[in-house]
Amino acid sequence: MSDRQWSALMMGDESYAGARSYYELKDSIVKILEFPYFLPTHQGRAAENVLFSTMIKAGDVIPGNSHFDTTKGHIEFRKATAIDCTIDEAFDTTKDYPFKGNIDLDKLEDVFRTYPKEKIPFVCVTVTCNSSGGQPVSIENLKNVYALCQKYGIPTMFDSARFAENAYFIKLREKAYAGKTIKEIVRIMYKYADIMTMSSKKDGLVNMGGFIAMNDKELHRQASTFNIMFEGFLTYGGMSGRDMSALAVGLNESTEFDYLETRIKQVEYLGFKLIDYGIPVQYPIGGHAVFVDAKKALCNVPKEQYQAQTLGIELYLEAGIRGVEIGTLLADRDPITRKNRYPDLELLRLAIPRRVYTNNHMDVIAAALKNVYDRRDKITSGYKTTWEAPIMRHFTVELEKA
Ligand SMILES: *Cc1c(COP(=O)(O)O)cnc(C)c1O
Repeated sequence: MSDRQWSALMMGDESYAGARSYYELKDSIVKILEFPYFLPTHQGRAAENVLFSTMIKAGDVIPGNSHFDTTKGHIEFRKATAIDCTIDEAFDTTKDYPFKGNIDLDKLEDVFRTYPKEKIPFVCVTVTCNSSGGQPVSIENLKNVYALCQKYGIPTMFDSARFAENAYFIKLREKAYAGKTIKEIVRIMYKYADIMTMSSKKDGLVNMGGFIAMNDKELHRQASTFNIMFEGFLTYGGMSGRDMSALAVGLNESTEFDYLETRIKQVEYLGFKLIDYGIPVQYPIGGHAVFVDAKKALCNVPKEQYQAQTLGIELYLEAGIRGVEIGTLLADRDPITRKNRYPDLELLRLAIPRRVYTNNHMDVIAAALKNVYDRRDKITSGYKTTWEAPIMRHFTVELEKA
């Protein structure tokens, strides 16, 4: 966190109800995101738990763009189904397309036509779309998705962990918004959302925290009950006063162009270094991470032996650098057939902590991955699971060499 965030933290108000820190956060959310109602939660998945308890029932479908793992977990835990409507361009890592997080409107309308309105509680738009490689969604797409949702009477929800990075990419890649500030772009983005959840650990620039925000007073009332049950009273919901104060400042800092430029350019620096070494990555490079295409990098490892996980383990053994599999382990088993789901993308995510590393560190990561890549012909087998949890197995899975 920045010096300003730490200062705000020292001044936190820990009163049980109606703390000044709560109002600081409320003001920040009203000003930056323009939602009149919000509920603090202890992190992003807690926001999902509260909101989905309010809105999702068994048998529902939730269309979206490559739902995040905890989001999908919370949907499937409620015996509902996440339907991926991401554009096809996202699944070809070599294709240069500015907004690979976009939702395919035809796929979305197909869902609207196939299921009755009562079975679609909302559409979940992830900005940026983490699981397809930290890829942004354009304003044009957000606008069209919102119009289509309005036509069918379905609310739009933004999963907003990387909303500021999304706004940065809009400024750089969507002509109509090149002259706007990040804060102006953020306000335009959220004109096209009825509800949002946020993991504040990402673009909130804090170590822990989250929230749900919405335009509808009645939804706020209904969700409040679950917030009180699961998280805490309405004016802290699992967060300390000091954490709310630090988040209020963080939202303001992450929506500044200079912060975003420094961060995203560092991620890009690593990405281009890997490209120079011939390593296959999702292109364009994502906002918070470089995503290595493990299907291409370790093509001798059978997909049943988890290519991206194998690459992650090799990199860790090589240099102690820890990436994360966004592939078959994370895609989990089909809840009904219990068979492995093999996603179109098998990625190793190298997420870069903000405000921590120098580009020299990026050079080390790139060199380590190059060493692994250079001996890829010798890596012919991967791993098998020896234990896995019934849902969201990738968090705790146990593996041994296949
Ligand atoms: C991190 C994240 C979440 C979950 O948030 P936590 O704070 O880790 O619980 C949900 N959606 C997206 C897109 C995320 O990046």
